[in-house]
Amino acid sequence: MLKYRNISFIGAGSMAEAMISGLINKAGISPERITAANHSNVERRSELINKYDIQAVSFNELSLKNTDVIILAVKPKQAEEVLQQLKPNLQDHHHVILSVLAGISTPFIEEIIGKHLPVIRVMPNTSSMIGESITGISAGKFVKNEDLDLAQELSKAIGKVKIISEKQMDVFTGIAGSGPAYFYYLLEHMEDVAVENGLDREMARDIAAQTLYGASKMVMESDDSPAELRKKVTSPNGTTAAGLDALDENGGGKAIEAAVENAAERSKTLR
Ligand code: NAD
Repeated sequence: MLKYRNISFIGAGSMAEAMISGLINKAGISPERITAANHSNVERRSELINKYDIQAVSFNELSLKNTDVIILAVKPKQAEEVLQQLKPNLQDHHHVILSVLAGISTPFIEEIIGKHLPVIRVMPNTSSMIGESITGISAGKFVKNEDLDLAQELSKAIGKVKIISEKQMDVFTGIAGSGPAYFYYLLEHMEDVAVENGLDREMARDIAAQTLYGASKMVMESDDSPAELRKKVTSPNGTTAAGLDALDENGGGKAIEAAVENAAERSKTLR
């Protein structure tokens, strides 16, 4: 059970913080079980200590002896360097490695560490900051059910979880990892056009965001597919039909598909 494990974050940026906050405030993990290790940023470590009452140390001060679960949360480009540094102190039958690094596969990590350790990829998104992530997890070849349970438990502290394969990770990143930004982009445009047409910005933002939230909730709570829901609200020659026609004429659907595909392709090149 996660509650009895000591957890160390390697990298103490925004994703690590979102997870730390969820682990303490939602999963009820005691702060003394959590350590965050970062490179050289002392102010950041003090900030985390003051805010969450966890341990925060420099990477060199981190003791893996007292760690059960290692969460890699540095930038993908730093993965190899960090793994090489951790390698001598990693122990089979003790450590479980979770990696949130975009584009870094479990075989890549397994190959560098060269041990039979459980490695699990965990792909959250930025909504983890408010406990509303959708997180994809995929298991490496030495992962047992109990390790996967642990990764699920941990991911539920920041939102919902889906177990996927390594192969599905790139498209998952394209939809869920990068997805919040597509919706922000949509809202930006809705907000701008609403302002141009006479609404004040704050009200326009509220209206557009609630519309997105409501539509999203409808999809989650209804048995209908998004296409069926769309058809149900589109009367012939009505306002919604006119709006959707303009979306089609301007390549709206294709643009969304291209966004997901491009992000998924980029995910492949990060390793
Ligand atoms: P960030 O820049 O906020 O944090 C990176 C942290 O790593 C910093 O605190 C930095 O000091 C630390 N660091 C760098 N090199 C280090 C080293 N050698 N040893 C120890 N610490 C070191 O980045 P972030 O947004 O938190 O992203 C971290 C990871 O999470 C990335 O790999 C990213 O792909 C992944 N991720 C982020 C999101 C997101 O929404 N932000 C979503 C999914 C996955």
